[in-house]
Amino acid sequence: MCGIAAYVGSSDVSDIVLELLIELQHRGQESAGIALVTYQGYMNVVRGKGLVFDVLTPDTLERLKNRGNIFAGIGHVRYSTSGGFLNSIPQPFVVGDGFKIAIAFNGTIANYLQLARSLGLRKALNDTHVLAETIYRLTKEYHGDVVEALRELPNYVIGSYSMVVLTTEPRLIIARDPRGFRPLAYVFNDALYVASETAALNVVAGDVWREVSPGEIISFDGFSLERSKVRASVTPTPCIFEYVYFARPDTVFNGVSVYEARIRMGIELAKTSSVVADVVVPVPESGRYAAMGYSRASGIPLEEGLFVNRYLGRGFIMPPTIRRKVSELKYGIVKRVVEDRRVVLVDDSIVRGTTMKNLILKLRNSGAKEVHVRIASPPFKYPCFMGIDIASRMELLINRSRSINEIAKYMGADSLGYNTLGGLMRAVGLASVCHACFSGLYPFPGLNAEKLERIFSR
Ligand code: SF4
Repeated sequence: MCGIAAYVGSSDVSDIVLELLIELQHRGQESAGIALVTYQGYMNVVRGKGLVFDVLTPDTLERLKNRGNIFAGIGHVRYSTSGGFLNSIPQPFVVGDGFKIAIAFNGTIANYLQLARSLGLRKALNDTHVLAETIYRLTKEYHGDVVEALRELPNYVIGSYSMVVLTTEPRLIIARDPRGFRPLAYVFNDALYVASETAALNVVAGDVWREVSPGEIISFDGFSLERSKVRASVTPTPCIFEYVYFARPDTVFNGVSVYEARIRMGIELAKTSSVVADVVVPVPESGRYAAMGYSRASGIPLEEGLFVNRYLGRGFIMPPTIRRKVSELKYGIVKRVVEDRRVVLVDDSIVRGTTMKNLILKLRNSGAKEVHVRIASPPFKYPCFMGIDIASRMELLINRSRSINEIAKYMGADSLGYNTLGGLMRAVGLASVCHACFSGLYPFPGLNAEKLERIFSR
């Protein structure tokens, strides 16, 4: 998962891209970067490890601004899905000599090692590097036409991408893969604003946004906006986990409000996983709305019993080396809410189990009589090769345990209940989605988890 942004218009380009990236910080905290292109076709990039404000300081941006008359900019916040945290390479990624392209992308190219071999690359730095090289080579085949290259791209890649591409023509092109795994939206008035999530556009550009359709390619040279489609024709399967965890609650993805989908997840969960208790306590932030739905449907009052240290960031998207420590430090307990009470603790998902075990121990130490864990999504059983960092099935808690009771015991909970896949799908309400991490059914014909694992690692 990453966040991408772009802007073409008469306002200060780097300031607008910076503002969009700040609104997308929840999608990646490892690195940040901006690429700008001038009307004369000079490209400048600044990127580095850290949060948006650490990397894109006022001094850095001022130096960039002084390098010419800026036409457009793209930006990225990163959470690595290939190459690992230590080898994480910040984006935007630039390729080319003379004619250059910079890309910022959100997704994963599962077959990037195979692609690198077919391109004759001696070293594949990561999937972003290989994706950029693939687009560049295809562009050369199509006599410099990036749009034609992007129309052809799905015939080469297995995986997911939402991306912004900046060229030295200069031109900005935005594209979403034909299955539409990851979000991408834009506002076009007298300027073009692009962001991974509509929530960022609401804040920076207003609420008259449009989502980029799966497979759509939009090109803007500052004068005319041209729309086209990829050649491949497939059924869209947007990522259902965006609704569970990734996206901001104030985002709309595929026409569905993330906030409302999360409330409905809690309602569905209460129908199939009820329990006698005194209080519903959400795990902030992404468990809050499912807890509201659970409370509404069960009639058990909701109280905020956990305080979250926001300065420590989102556990799921942290590198493994610091995830455990952070999960110990991140939450404080409001003792008055949980003492001598039967608590229903509602969270969005359990992937590795790092956070939940610590939380239950803290609740018991604060006097909770019983702790019943309820999860707004089904058990996370299979790895994702389309944009999140679960490369092996053995990393997943459910695959390290024999049964749900065993997981409850391992975590120290009195009971554990998950949403059903049917309940989750009803909550989101789309006819076709990717739910492979819950079901093992990947939306690529003939590919299952074993085959994708092999493709990803060789
Ligand atoms: S496998 Fe899960 S996380 Fe990955 S794209 Fe599909 S639904 Fe999303």
